[in-house]
Amino acid sequence: MQKTSIEDLSKEELNNKIVLIRVDFNVPFENGIITDDSRIKAALPTLEYLLQQGSRCVIASHLGRPKGKKDPSLSLAPIASHLSTLIKQDVFMCNDSIGNQIKETIKKQNDTKLFLLENVRFYEEEENNNETFAKELASLADIFVQDAFGTAHRAHASTAGIANYLPAYAGLLVKKELTFLQGVFDQPEKPLLAIVGGAKVSTKIGVLNHLLDTVDYLVIGGGMAFTFLKAQGYAIGKSLCEDDKCDLALALLDKALTLNKSILLPLDLVVSTAIDDTDSSYIVDAQNIPENTMGLDVGPQTIEAIESLIKLSKTVLWNGPLGVFEVEAFSKGTCEVAKQLATSNAITIIGGGDSVAAVHKVNQAKFMSHISTGGGACLEYLEGKELPGIACLKEKETV
Ligand code: AMP
Repeated sequence: MQKTSIEDLSKEELNNKIVLIRVDFNVPFENGIITDDSRIKAALPTLEYLLQQGSRCVIASHLGRPKGKKDPSLSLAPIASHLSTLIKQDVFMCNDSIGNQIKETIKKQNDTKLFLLENVRFYEEEENNNETFAKELASLADIFVQDAFGTAHRAHASTAGIANYLPAYAGLLVKKELTFLQGVFDQPEKPLLAIVGGAKVSTKIGVLNHLLDTVDYLVIGGGMAFTFLKAQGYAIGKSLCEDDKCDLALALLDKALTLNKSILLPLDLVVSTAIDDTDSSYIVDAQNIPENTMGLDVGPQTIEAIESLIKLSKTVLWNGPLGVFEVEAFSKGTCEVAKQLATSNAITIIGGGDSVAAVHKVNQAKFMSHISTGGGACLEYLEGKELPGIACLKEKETV
């Protein structure tokens, strides 16, 4: 079921309305300076759209982990001035996120179009999804807009509870996330390939299981591939392995057989005696890893096989690196896949976390169809879980 976005509303529904927008301005700081403002930039299309429609915007976000206490070092004030520069408009920085004084200020300052509330996590009621706190937030506005995909998997007062008291719609960032991620499960352009890597089976088994129902091809790489190899009886040396997950791995392989889906596990690997032993790495057959070594990246044969699958596919979803990509010597598989996706004609969706970092590392981000802004939220969506911050939005009426 599709969610209603602000683009589905008429100008009258937004004009002169006070809109509370939940964004994710949880940006990194170093010595008081914002070191990466991409999350602020990601919210601009929604804010600009609402301003064009004549709305007055009250923006809410969390920053860091103040644990329910007012912590001046986690104030959103520096973000207000940065946002003001980016959007070329004044942004009024509120000294609180709820209360009569804030309500009065928003009501009286009719000419001010953008207000930024103080860090909502200064109140423990935020993360407890406290009803009174959610009602207080809701009382500041006429409409709620969800644009914080990165926190949509949390049932907090400003991400979900507030929707009990206001009509709630998706912002443009959330709309884009849902269009692409929903598109993987909802009539995707086929063939559909999912490439899943990362360290552990335990954190990805839900994703693998859910994806297997919809994909045509599934590539399993990264550290978790070794649990699959071991489960099939192959020697994995000192490679990462979750012995207690071998049964789950076998069950997934069985499920693939039943569904007639093809799973590609590493065919060859770059191994070494340790992650910091980058000088003595070499390539081995994935079904015969020497006892004193660990698999740290996929080998050239595997990269070639993945490339062939990418060429065959019309939609590709990628989540998780195929090796220890943080170390140059073991980054080739991950970087090559990022480059292949960049030149592919398929719809390419980069599903959060380290694969996003990898795509940026090789400067290929601009060539992807979609790069998810949510790490945990994206993973939960791919597992088929309902995200509270999305579930609470109004469903689109079908004619
Ligand atoms: P995840 O957060 O589950 O996506 O895992 C990402 C982490 O998996 C990265 O820090 C990688 O270094 C790590 N990783 C990928 N491949 C391997 C491998 N073969 N052995 C150990 N760690 C790996």
